[in-house]
Amino acid sequence: MGSLSSDAPIHVVLFPFMSKGHTIPILDLARHLLLRRLAATITVFTTPSNLPFVSRHLAGTSASAVALPFPGDIPGLPSGVESTDALPSMSLFPAFANAAALMQPSLEAELQRLHPRPTFMVSDGFLWWTLESASKFGIPRLVFYGMSNYAMAVSYASTIENHLRGPMAEDEPFTVNAFPWIKLTKNDFERHFSQPMTEENPYLEFIMKVAVAMGKSNGLVVNSFQELEPAFLEYWNRECVPRAWCVGPLLPLERPVACDPQLQTTWAQWLDRKRAGGERVLYAAFGSQAEIPAAQMREIALGLESSGTSFLWVVKKRESEIIADVDGGFEDRVSGRGMVVREWVGQRDILMHESVHGFLSHCGWNSVLESVWAGVPILAWPMMAEQPLNARMVAEEIGVGLRVEAADGTARGFVRGEGLAKAVRELMEGEKGEAARKKAKEVAEMARKAAEEGGSSWTALEALVEEISRKRKDHTG
Ligand code: UDP
Repeated sequence: MGSLSSDAPIHVVLFPFMSKGHTIPILDLARHLLLRRLAATITVFTTPSNLPFVSRHLAGTSASAVALPFPGDIPGLPSGVESTDALPSMSLFPAFANAAALMQPSLEAELQRLHPRPTFMVSDGFLWWTLESASKFGIPRLVFYGMSNYAMAVSYASTIENHLRGPMAEDEPFTVNAFPWIKLTKNDFERHFSQPMTEENPYLEFIMKVAVAMGKSNGLVVNSFQELEPAFLEYWNRECVPRAWCVGPLLPLERPVACDPQLQTTWAQWLDRKRAGGERVLYAAFGSQAEIPAAQMREIALGLESSGTSFLWVVKKRESEIIADVDGGFEDRVSGRGMVVREWVGQRDILMHESVHGFLSHCGWNSVLESVWAGVPILAWPMMAEQPLNARMVAEEIGVGLRVEAADGTARGFVRGEGLAKAVRELMEGEKGEAARKKAKEVAEMARKAAEEGGSSWTALEALVEEISRKRKDHTG
């Protein structure tokens, strides 16, 4: 396609939010649109320091990336930080997200210049102000929100039924009318949702702007597939606006046996050796943003050590210093069996590697989808945002994983090393782990069918492009 029959070629403008988990899937969307010839031209907006990451991800495609200057001199924000994973603390998130809104004039200057004129825009939900820019130029806007239908539907239902405010204890179970089988607690949601909307709650104020702009947009692009969560997609499309379109997983279809030989990094070679030795590896990673306290990091190290399992653990710089400190040389003790990686890895390659049989994950939605895609069961340990809901979905709704339990039995409590070791052994060798593995492989098959030609996600993306391009045409003409 790439154009609507005799009409102008389709030009899609993409604007991902500046955090890795939000940027990666929108860049994947660019690849899918171009590869399938659903778009002829793609322009991706980003900021100067995110440009190298964006350009690397788009390498080999005809998409062009345009950097808009990120505002400097914002009180509280260290200068030069243009991505949430570089923030010294996630408490600076509202300041960062509000600073992003100051890019509106430069976005509009670029939109004015773009040729051919954009057919439609897909921008991250957090960039709520892009709706106004798109409207000024008569460009329909689709929202990319990066959450599952489950998380969106359950959050919406819990909010409108008013479960998140009021005196109920954080760990007291409640249910929502539409999904009575799900036992929720306030702990499944960010604290901001149960606090009053005051100046001290800038996060909630921001979420309101996001929600209002989303409601006025022309559609919601969801990186999920209909067969995974039909009841939640159906609920959203019945109760909420705009219409959600499941077009995922937006991942490459091939499955490598070993890691890409082009990427023969130490960890890739290490995984290949594990495969040759017939060892099952646990991959442990908590995404690009979670802030894990030092005491908890130590318990993770001790848990992985005493689990007896082979593991590949990806840590961030600050965490790396904590691990180096774990009593008596943790890395020496696990050497050969466990590997700690201190750099950005190809997570998808790792999950697709034949030696990887389990994923200890914070349940960021991309990580969940990537694990499901690879047929790898998850040991769910949510840390922030909507991750507790994703963890529930993984363990209770689709059955592709187990949960790590806190020592005091609460959802956000401290996890001891011995508890973690037990859960790791259950996932890697136990009956429950085997059942989750079997289910994960079945779901991986479903995901592939949805994403392949003729599948539900394949068809939905085509229909969405058709519908939204027609809107632009009707508007102009
Ligand atoms: N990721 C990666 N290498 C890393 C760390 C993260 O490729 O070293 C990718 C991961 O595969 C996923 C994204 O970064 O696509 C993280 O998104 P997710 O939603 O899982 O978590 P977040 O970082 O948003 O908490």
